[in-house]
Amino acid sequence: MNPGQIAVADNHTKEERSLNMAHIAGKDTKPEVKVRKYLWRLGFRYRKNDRKLPGKPDIVLPKYRTVIFVNGCFWHKHDCPAFVWPSSNQDYWIPKITRNVERDRKNTALLTEMGWHVLVVWECELKKKTIDDTLQRVARQIRENLPAKEKEQKASDSPLLPLEP
Ligand SMILES: [Zn+2]
Repeated sequence: MNPGQIAVADNHTKEERSLNMAHIAGKDTKPEVKVRKYLWRLGFRYRKNDRKLPGKPDIVLPKYRTVIFVNGCFWHKHDCPAFVWPSSNQDYWIPKITRNVERDRKNTALLTEMGWHVLVVWECELKKKTIDDTLQRVARQIRENLPAKEKEQKASDSPLLPLEP
């Protein structure tokens, strides 16, 4: 790295830096893509990062009244070996991560009140060893959430279609 590059990096304002972080954290990060691709192949159709819903869920499946959050273990404080409090800058990290956890809890409560089923997939569950089991479990859970009404409609002969004149 040459000194010029370092100078440029240092000239980033705080806002620019947080914008970069938001970009990296909020858009098609790899774990989300893994889940989406799998669901798409199975024929599930979804919306991505729906801003109209609390917490902007990564995957929204309206037909199944299901939203999915694909959470990073660090940012969302998963109770797993992947989460450890940083040893430095604790004055910054502890309140920040704690706020994230509180926000997650609030969003889940709001979504549940609105009639959505909320699924959380953790980044550590998408590691090579466990990804197949995790994705199969997610697909099963989504299907279980299909409203009973729709299940019946599927079985019958589309009674809601208008009759031919
Ligand atoms: Zn984890």
